[in-house]
Amino acid sequence: MVSKKMLDLGTKRSVIRDIFEYGSKLAKEIGAENVLDFSLGNPSTPAPREVANTIRYMVEELSPKEYNSYTSSAGDTETRLAVAKNLNKRFSTDYNEQNIFMTCGAAASLNIIFKAIIESGDEIIVNIPYFPEYKVFIEGQGGKPVFARCSENLYLDIAEIESKITENTKAILINSPNNPSGVIYPKENLEALATLLKEKQKEYSHPIFLISDEPYRELVFTNEKPEFLPNIYDNTLVAYSWSKSLSLPGERIGYILVPNKVIDHEDVFAAVGGAARVLGYVCAPSMFQYVVKNCVDAQPNIEVYRINRNILFESLPNMGYTVANPGGAFYLFIKSPSDDGNEFCERAKKYHMLLVPGEGFGMKEYVRLSFCVDSEKIEKSIDVFKKLMDEYKL
Ligand code: PLP
Repeated sequence: MVSKKMLDLGTKRSVIRDIFEYGSKLAKEIGAENVLDFSLGNPSTPAPREVANTIRYMVEELSPKEYNSYTSSAGDTETRLAVAKNLNKRFSTDYNEQNIFMTCGAAASLNIIFKAIIESGDEIIVNIPYFPEYKVFIEGQGGKPVFARCSENLYLDIAEIESKITENTKAILINSPNNPSGVIYPKENLEALATLLKEKQKEYSHPIFLISDEPYRELVFTNEKPEFLPNIYDNTLVAYSWSKSLSLPGERIGYILVPNKVIDHEDVFAAVGGAARVLGYVCAPSMFQYVVKNCVDAQPNIEVYRINRNILFESLPNMGYTVANPGGAFYLFIKSPSDDGNEFCERAKKYHMLLVPGEGFGMKEYVRLSFCVDSEKIEKSIDVFKKLMDEYKL
C-alpha cells in the first residue's frame, strides 16, 4: 500500500486548480475572450529581455558542460555571490555566498527551511490570510501550523500572535506583499512583531525564527516598500523566488538567505543543506542559476499589474465593496457583501467571472482576484462587479 497521507494529498484537488480547469472548459464552450478567469497567480508579464539574451548567449557561446553540470548543492558560488551583492547594495547588508542557498523556488525554500528547523512537537505560527500550501508544507515536514487572525486592515495582529506563542513555537511565517491580500505590512507593525519575538525568545530560552516568504518583494505599486526583515529581526530566514519577480514560475529558481546574525547560523545553514539533500533537490537548476547570475539586477516590467490594480482599486470601493489595499503582489482581496465568499464566487460564475473563495486562505468572507491578466479583462470585470453589487442590494 501507499502512504495514506500522500494519497490524500495527491488526490485532493486544490480549489484553485478546480476553478482553473472549470475556466478552461468554459473557454472551449464560449471562447476564451468571454471568460474572466482571475483564478491563478501565473505572471502575465513576460520575463525581462535580459533573461532571453542570457539564455541565447549561454546555449550559443558556452559549452553545455558549463550550464548543464551539477553545481554544488548550495549552488554555484558566483551565482550566490551575485545574489549576496544584490542584497548588500539594496539593503546595506554584508552577505556573501555562504549566506545564500540556491533552491527550486519558494515552495522548495519553505519546505527546506521547515525540514531544517522542525523537531517533533514544534509549532509554526502562520498569519491569516495565508497561501494555502503553507499548511501542506508545514505538516509535510512534521510541524504543526498554528493560525493567527489578522487585524481589521489585514495587518499582523500582535496581541493575537502573542496569544498563540507557546514553548513549542519554533517559528513564525510571514508573507509581505501578501498572497492573497496584496497588503504590505508597515514597518511599525513588523517592529512590534520583532519586539514580541525577542521577548518570547528570552522567556522560553530558545530561538524563535521569523521566516519571511518573499516571492512578491519586487512587485510593488506605491511608495510603500516591503521592509527587509533581517534588518528588523536578527533571527530571520528569507525564502525568495524569481517565479513572480522575473516571471519564471516554471523554471523553479529561488534561494534561502541565512544571515550571520541568525542564532547558530552555521548549523542552520548546514541543516538547510541536510534538508535539501533528504528532499532530493541535489542542486537548483544550473541553467537558471546561470540566468540569475547574469540577471539578478534586472527589473520586471510590472506596468500591466499597476494599471489593473489601479482600475480595480479605484472602482470597487466606489461601488460599495470593501477591499484590502493592494500595495504589492498581483491580488485583490474583496469582501463579499454578504460575508460569504463562496456564495459570491458562485454568483460571479453566472457572469463567467472566476474568483477564488477566501476560505482556503483562512477568511471565508473574502474572495481573491488575481489581476495578472490583460487589462481588457479587468475593464470588462468592472461591469460584472456592478451587476453583482446590484444583486446584493435587491
Ligand atoms: N509563497 C507564496 C506566498 C506564493 O504565492 C507562492 C506561489 O504562488 C509560493 C510561495 C510558491 O512560489 P514558487 O513558484 O517560487 O515555488
